[in-house]
Amino acid sequence: MTALPANDFPPAPPSIIDDAPLRALNTFGIDARAHRLVTLTDARTLPAALDACGPDGPALILGGGSNLLLTRDIDGAVLRIASRGRAIVEQAGDDVIVEAAAGEPWHPFVQWTLAQRLFGLENLSLIPGLVGASPIQNIGAYGVEMADRMRSLLAIHLRTGESRRFDASECRFGYRDSVFKHGDGPQWLIASVRFGLSRRADPRPGYGDIGAELQTRGIDASTATPPQIAEAVCAIRRRKLPDPALIGNAGSFFKNPVLPRRQAEALRQAHPDMPVYPAGDGHAKIAAAWLIEHCGWKGFRDGDAGVHPQHALVLVNYGHARGAELLALARRIQDSVRQRFGVAIEPEPRVI
Ligand SMILES: Cc1cc2nc3c(=O)[nH]c(=O)nc-3n(C[C@H](O)[C@H](O)[C@H](O)COP(=O)(O)OP(=O)(O)OC[C@H]3O[C@@H](n4cnc5c(N)ncnc54)[C@H](O)[C@@H]3O)c2cc1C
Repeated sequence: MTALPANDFPPAPPSIIDDAPLRALNTFGIDARAHRLVTLTDARTLPAALDACGPDGPALILGGGSNLLLTRDIDGAVLRIASRGRAIVEQAGDDVIVEAAAGEPWHPFVQWTLAQRLFGLENLSLIPGLVGASPIQNIGAYGVEMADRMRSLLAIHLRTGESRRFDASECRFGYRDSVFKHGDGPQWLIASVRFGLSRRADPRPGYGDIGAELQTRGIDASTATPPQIAEAVCAIRRRKLPDPALIGNAGSFFKNPVLPRRQAEALRQAHPDMPVYPAGDGHAKIAAAWLIEHCGWKGFRDGDAGVHPQHALVLVNYGHARGAELLALARRIQDSVRQRFGVAIEPEPRVI
């Protein structure tokens, strides 16, 4: 399943639980159940895990559950990826290729790279979830995205059993998008991911509040080291984003819409304070948070489903909201943004 060096222990069989609760396995804290939950802890036992999922294979591959909205119970099997392992697999001068198994938690993996003095992932610190899901939506934050750092990944096709290495160009990365979200894409199980990192620091402190955060720490942005940038990013994220351990959420629920530049300009003329960013190729990106806030949704609450009071982009579960209630709220928000601004906003998490 992965090219990572196998450990010396005998392969651990997958664990199997029937009628399993999923509440603790998704960051929205949605109380859904799986007909069967198969947890893969050792990549070598993937065939056994797939067998345990039954003849139809897994109905859902689950990582950290931080980009998922479950609106129903899962009738089939959920295959939870918890395979671990990380290693340096190639070095040439300052350039180093690191591989991590799909079940490695993302943020500890980033910290491990920094502890090895391998640089490049620091701006992506503290994103929830696991390594295996990171290419699916081309995770990004603070001016860096997966597409900038990923070299290749190893994937297994759930129906055919084909094992294939995708390089970055074959992943067709876009803004919160990749080949794995379209057509046959969800049939590929990502087993491990390789990253191209460097022993030479190339810090990117110029995005968002990183410079200001460094300044409050007495650090000059022009001399900041990657670990200092990672610490700054963590501090900003801890301050700004709701912790799913305290309040259920999946981060930004909507993507920023990308529009033809002419349409974006017309909107800005009508609403001069609307943030508009260049998005290349005659297109512009507008801030979904601004659209939602200006439709009056920020802080809205209906039962236990709501919009975070400080983050218009973040839908929250205040306790026992059902997935269907959060989805209904998302649709109301989409409808009102379409009516008021003529713009379609799309959910970022996968809705099941
Ligand atoms: C508080 C908060 C902040 C966030 N901030 C950011 C951010 O700054 N930037 C950003 O990009 N995202 C952000 N996210 C979203 C989320 O953390 C990322 O999308 C993350 O990569 C999801 O990983 P996961 O393991 O939890 O995936 P899951 O939610 O388990 O799965 C997401 C999708 O990937 C599929 N999948 C998972 N693992 C595999 C695999 N091994 N093979 C094939 N398919 C798989 C699932 O079937 C599902 O379709 C945030 C989320 C939260 C809760």
